[in-house]
Amino acid sequence: MTSVAENLSAIKGRIEAACLRAGREPSEVHLVGVTKTVPVDRIREGVKAGILILGENYVQEARTKVDALADLDISWHFIGHLQSNKVKMAVDWCHCIHTLDRESLARELDRQARKLGKKIPVLIQVNIGDEETKSGVSSENLFALFRMASSLEGLDIRGLMILPPYYDDPDRVRPYFRKLRKLLLELKQEAPFPERLTELSMGMSNDFEVAIEEGATLIRVGTALFGTRQG
Ligand SMILES: *Cc1c(COP(=O)(O)O)cnc(C)c1O
Repeated sequence: MTSVAENLSAIKGRIEAACLRAGREPSEVHLVGVTKTVPVDRIREGVKAGILILGENYVQEARTKVDALADLDISWHFIGHLQSNKVKMAVDWCHCIHTLDRESLARELDRQARKLGKKIPVLIQVNIGDEETKSGVSSENLFALFRMASSLEGLDIRGLMILPPYYDDPDRVRPYFRKLRKLLLELKQEAPFPERLTELSMGMSNDFEVAIEEGATLIRVGTALFGTRQG
């Protein structure tokens, strides 16, 4: 297995090359190291090598890791499907939630965040015309969810996230990324604080370069950083 440091350095090179092609600054693109099922020692190796943001899919699994890595300066992002009964535990350690997809979840996030005196950064997960991946709000319902969530004091809506279907050829995912960027621009038109709406969480190991070309500001990379997942 190659070291996380070597993988990170290769990925940084690819991020820079994609930014150069797209006329963007590499500082606009933030790497989220996706650590589901990755053992704590290997995560630690990654943070030592320079990973600043970690993304977790499961609240309970994350809790253990947050405690085990409490000595490190990490920003924790939640990128999995969030059940309402796990919100209380999640807002405790999460610096950003990528997967707001329904009004009931917005209300619960707001309630728990305000209890802790926090305003929690949130992205809305969009499901663009895909029957199979059930998570995410449809593009038709996005605007209503955005208006509702923007009115909640405990939430700071920062942008959009997408988990498109998997294709071997990353160019086939490009239209999904492009559509997400278009939706963000449309939301800005009616946003109370358009300058806060800056984030596009899109792109994974197989397609992050295409996502960067289409405007990604947060890429979520697991396998290419930490190696093939166990289990
Ligand atoms: C697992 C996961 C990733 C990372 O996937 P890789 O292909 O391993 O890079 C990114 N985003 C979400 C939502 C995930 O669940």
